[in-house]
Amino acid sequence: MANSGKSPDFDAVVIGAGFAGLGMLRRLREELGMSVQVYETGDEVGGTWYWNRYPGARCDSESYIYCFSFSKELLQDWNWSGKYPEQPEILAYLNHVADRFDLRRNIQFNTRVTSARFLENANLWEVETDQGDRVTAQFLITAIGCISAGNVPDIKGLDSFQGEWYHTGSWPHDKVDFAGKRVAVIGTGSSGVQSIPVIAQQAGHLTVFQRTAQFTIPARHGTVDRKFLEEEVKPHYAEILEKAKWSAAGFPLDPSERSALEVTAEERLETYEAGWAKGGFGFVFGSYSDIRTDRRANDTVSEFIRSKIREMVKDPETAEKLLPTDHPFGSKRTLIDTDYFDTYNRENVELVDIRHSPIREITPKGIRTEDEEYEFDIIVFATGFDAMTGTFFKMDIRGRNDLSLKEKWSEGPKTYLGLQTAGFPNMFMITGPGSPSVLGNMPVCIEQHIEWIADFLQYMRERDIGAVEADADAEAAWVSHVNETAEPTMFMLANSWYLGANIPGKPRVFMPYAGGVGNYRKKCNEIADNGYEGFILDSGSRGKAASAT
Ligand code: NAP
Repeated sequence: MANSGKSPDFDAVVIGAGFAGLGMLRRLREELGMSVQVYETGDEVGGTWYWNRYPGARCDSESYIYCFSFSKELLQDWNWSGKYPEQPEILAYLNHVADRFDLRRNIQFNTRVTSARFLENANLWEVETDQGDRVTAQFLITAIGCISAGNVPDIKGLDSFQGEWYHTGSWPHDKVDFAGKRVAVIGTGSSGVQSIPVIAQQAGHLTVFQRTAQFTIPARHGTVDRKFLEEEVKPHYAEILEKAKWSAAGFPLDPSERSALEVTAEERLETYEAGWAKGGFGFVFGSYSDIRTDRRANDTVSEFIRSKIREMVKDPETAEKLLPTDHPFGSKRTLIDTDYFDTYNRENVELVDIRHSPIREITPKGIRTEDEEYEFDIIVFATGFDAMTGTFFKMDIRGRNDLSLKEKWSEGPKTYLGLQTAGFPNMFMITGPGSPSVLGNMPVCIEQHIEWIADFLQYMRERDIGAVEADADAEAAWVSHVNETAEPTMFMLANSWYLGANIPGKPRVFMPYAGGVGNYRKKCNEIADNGYEGFILDSGSRGKAASAT
């Protein structure tokens, strides 16, 4: 239904009903009294955790810190069962949040936003969906996730495959039965490393196709430590969350300040062994400050992990193939695993190195590499995502002068703080490119954006400001800062999705902000305190929706 008068249909349209969309909806509706329409492609809330249902899917952040912080009661009431939250439980948590805060009534499910156009004369966004909706809103807020557009590589012959195939990022709701089947998994990133050990336990035979060998840290997963939760977490949640907010990566950890190069080899080994025994991201942050910035320091940890792989994998030839030697530890997303390397000791598991013998085609019966044809009943693509920009480009988003976002970002995403992009007034991105989100604990990063955006909208309302837009110079300076910050890090030394390197033809640009979650928060706050420096505030016509519901 089109809007005929001056008032928009809604104050804000939010795209997506995962962590970001749910949190934004609650905040705008409950604290700003805004009318909000959320559109969600899935038939339920959950976002990432709705789509990624593959075997073994769980989060690498520990459960007690993977949550919303806006409600003290929610923090106290919810009890996670695993040390790391598993996908069904995160989905249950998000459903609980949607019910508890009565969020569903403003969410339209099974609806994909197809286009969003800024109407310059009215300072409004016009949003269209695949269900025939056409609505206007003063604000457009994208809560579409950073890693949500699945990448199934364009391999010749996939259409001819007679078995079943799946992508980890759009896994079926019904259980996939691997029992007794010949299964292929292509890809050894986070999704592959989590699913391979679980599929191996069920499949008749599993063949893993590996392009890049990975560094991965043991998760030491298990049931949640109830004593820790009841005595050390729940009574101190406020302090824990505060610490996470100002930390480098959104975790309440005490990062080491020592250099790996200022201690003896024995001491280093002891530290790495202790971190390895404990597992998780603590291994990275608790060891040495320079393993992510100094190549010589990094060599010590990279070699330590390679020695662990040699120890864990019994067959020396397989171990050799599993050794990551072409990129330093931490240059790709740090992986956390449960029994990943042990899985290669199973009789029913085989590793194919496609770096040396690339996949040539998919045949009706399976996969043909340069050297051999393999037959399969099921192929699992754990091949990742067109991250950070892919989901934006699935929609036709147009700002001033009918400029499309795809065109504006054709050489890589350009944003101011990852929150706005010049030429697209009143459009805000939650965890957009240029923000640190994908390098940190997501809910902490998401909530910072939600709070910052809501405060900005409140500021606008109080001053009767109709539209705000990132200034092009401020944006250019931020893009340069993002690049400069990434330059000295290990991140520049691998072909990762952070750089768009996994998608043929994608511009090679480091997309997230590597300056740290806490530093980023400080910058955002300073900009707000300075009257939203770097934004153009237009006090022209203000399009408030007729009534808030
Ligand atoms: P990913 O990290 O991009 O890994 C994709 C894998 O597929 C890589 O091993 C890649 O090899 C391989 N690959 C891609 N295209 C290929 C091709 N054409 N032929 C052969 N191999 C190909 O994707 P992901 O594992 O889905 O993870 C994406 C991100 O999602 C993670 O980094 C993480 O941020 C998030 N995630 C988080 C969790 C968690 O919290 N536990 C779980 C899953 C995902 P190359 O390395 O050679 O490119």
